[in-house]
Amino acid sequence: MVGSGPVPVRFFEDERGGNGGGGGAIRLTDDLPRLSASVQGTGLAEEAEARWRLVETAWQLDLPRAGVAVQADAAQDLLFVEQDRRIRRTSLTRVRAALNGYQRGCCFYCQAEVPLTATDVDHFFPWVLKERGEMPDADGVWNLVLACRGCNRGERGKFAAVPSPRLVARLHKRNNYLTDSHHPLRETIMLQTGVDTEARASFLRVRQQIARDHLIHEWEPVGAEADV
Ligand SMILES: [Zn+2]
Repeated sequence: MVGSGPVPVRFFEDERGGNGGGGGAIRLTDDLPRLSASVQGTGLAEEAEARWRLVETAWQLDLPRAGVAVQADAAQDLLFVEQDRRIRRTSLTRVRAALNGYQRGCCFYCQAEVPLTATDVDHFFPWVLKERGEMPDADGVWNLVLACRGCNRGERGKFAAVPSPRLVARLHKRNNYLTDSHHPLRETIMLQTGVDTEARASFLRVRQQIARDHLIHEWEPVGAEADV
């Protein structure tokens, strides 16, 4: 289910029958091995594992009710939660594995296909804003995307520039996807940025303004394709 309806291709049939009276099963369809063999299947197993780790942890810690958000360490490529005040980190999974599904093996900015191992975990609004205290929450999962090295730190890479409004809209769409599709990072995105799409849009507008005020220069990837 994404948004208000099911996706066009189903990867399983639920044959359990109405009221759990035994018999039947969840049957995987042939589309599943087909998907895993395709380009979009790159990192599928790793992503499934990442999602599962997130779900398990959310159950264990009762994340939304406890008001605990999954946090990210982009440099270490790590998602974690902090319990208590003792700053005890519980490692969850790799940022890359958790975010790859949405981007389907493509750079967030230029949308070129990139092998998962060659992607950078990038702060959409540059990390320098956090470092200087201008955007203390810039380390949130809401602000992390996977980028090719060219876009992140190539000759005409983003560095400490502000992504264009077109790209901010794309980030908004991505974060909405994570909440609407019941992705395990849903609660975290909502805790960090707002419970509905209007709240999240306004959250991003504020961050965009902060970034513009401090970094001035706008950035677009080289040879960017228009959004569909
Ligand atoms: Zn790129």
